[in-house]
Amino acid sequence: MKQMKVMKFGGTSVGKPERMHQVAQLITSDSEPKIVVLSALSGTTNTLVSIGEALLKGDKDAANAIIEKLDIHYQQFINELLTNDVYRQKARNIIAEHFEFLNIITRISFNEALNKDILAQGELMSTKLFSVSLEEKGIKHLLLPALDFMSIDANDEPQVNAIRAKLMPILRSHEDTKLFITQGYICRNARGEVDNLKRGGSDYTASLIAAAANCSVCEIWTDIDGMHNNDPRVVNKTMPIEQLSFEEAAELAYFGAKILHPTCIWPAQQEKVPVKLLNTMQPEAAGTTIMQEAGSVGVKAIAAKDGIIAIKIKSSRMLLAYGFLRKIFEVFEKYRTPIDMITTSEVAVSVTIDNASFLKEIVKELEPFGTVEVDLDQTIVSIVGNDIAQTQDILSKLFESLKPVPVRMVSYGGSKHNVSLLIPSAHKQQTLQLLNTGLFGL
Ligand code: ADP
Ligand code: ASP
Ligand code: MG
Repeated sequence: MKQMKVMKFGGTSVGKPERMHQVAQLITSDSEPKIVVLSALSGTTNTLVSIGEALLKGDKDAANAIIEKLDIHYQQFINELLTNDVYRQKARNIIAEHFEFLNIITRISFNEALNKDILAQGELMSTKLFSVSLEEKGIKHLLLPALDFMSIDANDEPQVNAIRAKLMPILRSHEDTKLFITQGYICRNARGEVDNLKRGGSDYTASLIAAAANCSVCEIWTDIDGMHNNDPRVVNKTMPIEQLSFEEAAELAYFGAKILHPTCIWPAQQEKVPVKLLNTMQPEAAGTTIMQEAGSVGVKAIAAKDGIIAIKIKSSRMLLAYGFLRKIFEVFEKYRTPIDMITTSEVAVSVTIDNASFLKEIVKELEPFGTVEVDLDQTIVSIVGNDIAQTQDILSKLFESLKPVPVRMVSYGGSKHNVSLLIPSAHKQQTLQLLNTGLFGL
C-alpha cells in the first residue's frame, strides 16, 4: 500500500461554507493519497453539550429550543454550501435524519451513553456535508465511518495496535481510493458504545490514524499559523515557533496550549510520524513542525492550564517516614485522579490535580495523614523548551520577571523540557504577559 498522509481540519476550518470549499481545494492540491479528518462545524459540539446539560436537568423545552436553532443553522449552511438542488436535497435528507435522532432523544430517558450519542452528531454531520459537497464538485472520495475502526479500551484509552488492526484491512480493501474522509473525536468504547476522545479530540484521532497507518505526516490545519510562543488568547504579541520536539509539543499540549489536544502527541511520537501545525486561512505560512529533534536549545514557549486544584497535606509527624508519599499517592490512584505537580518540604507535601470529580472523597481519605488544605482556581504556567534546565539564567530571569506574582509552587528539574509554576488564576494574564516580556522580549 502506498504511504498516505493525514490532514485534519478543526472546527473553524469547516465552520463556514467558504472554508469548506477552501478545505476541498487544500486536499486536492497534490496527488498524495490522504486520510482527511474533520471536526464538527465550530460551535456545534458546544451546542450539543448544552443539549445534554438541559436534558440532564430535565428541561426538555430548553433542549428542544437549542435543537431547533441548530437545525436552522444547518439549513442555512446547506443552502450556502451547495448550489445544485439535487445535492441540496441530498444534504437536507442526511441532516434531517440526525435532527430526527436528536428529537427522539429528548423524548426518552436520558443517560450518559445517550449523551455520547448526542455529542457524536457534530462530526457525523460535518463529514457527511463535506462528502456531499465533494460529490457536487466531482471529487472522488470515500467516507470512512470512524466508528468502524476508532476505539478506546476498558480504561478509555486508545491503543494504536487495536486501531491499526481494524483500519488497515479497510484501507487495503480500497487500494484504489486516494482520498478518505473520516470523523475526528468519535470512537467506540470497550462496551461497543459510541464514545469520544474528549474535547478537542479530533487532533488525537488524526495522530492515532497517522500512527496506525504509518503515514508520512500528520497535518493539523487550524485557524493560526502554528504553535505560538505564548497563549494568543491572553497576551497581545506572540510569534509562531518553527520547530518543536515531540516532548516539547507534548508538554505544551498537556499544560494548556489549546492548539493541540492534551495527549495527542504520543501516537505520532511512538511511530515517529512528524506533525505539522498549519493555518487553513494562510496555507503558505510555514507553521510548526513537530519531530524527534528540537531544532534549537532554550525556552520555546509558555502555556497555561486553568482549573487546577492545589492540595496541601501538613504532617510534622509523618512526612519524613518512608511510605508516607506512597500512602498519599494511593489515595489519588484509588480515585484515578492524576497528579500534575508535586513539591515537598519537611512538614508538608503539596500536589495539584485538574480533575475535581472525587475531590471530596480524596480529601476525606487524606485527612488521617495530617491537616489538608485545598486551594481552588489555580493555574499551572509551564515554560517549555529544549534542555531548559541547562539554559543560562533561566531561573534568575524567571524570578526577576515574576516579582509581583504570588507564586505558590515551582517544579524544576522533573523534565529537561519544563519549568512549571503554580499561581492563582487571577494572576494568569499578568504572569503570561510578564514572562512574554522577560523571556522573549515581547
Ligand atoms: P481547532 O478548532 O482547529 O481544533 P482550536 O481552537 O482547538 O482549533 O485551537 C486553535 C486555537 O488555539 C487558536 O485559535 C489559539 O487561540 C489557541 N491557542 C492557545 N494557545 C496557543 C499557542 N500556544 N499557539 C497557538 N494557538 C494557541
Ligand atoms: N468537535 C470536538 C470538540 O469541539 C472535537 C474537536 O473539535 O477536536 O471538542
Ligand atoms: Mg482543537
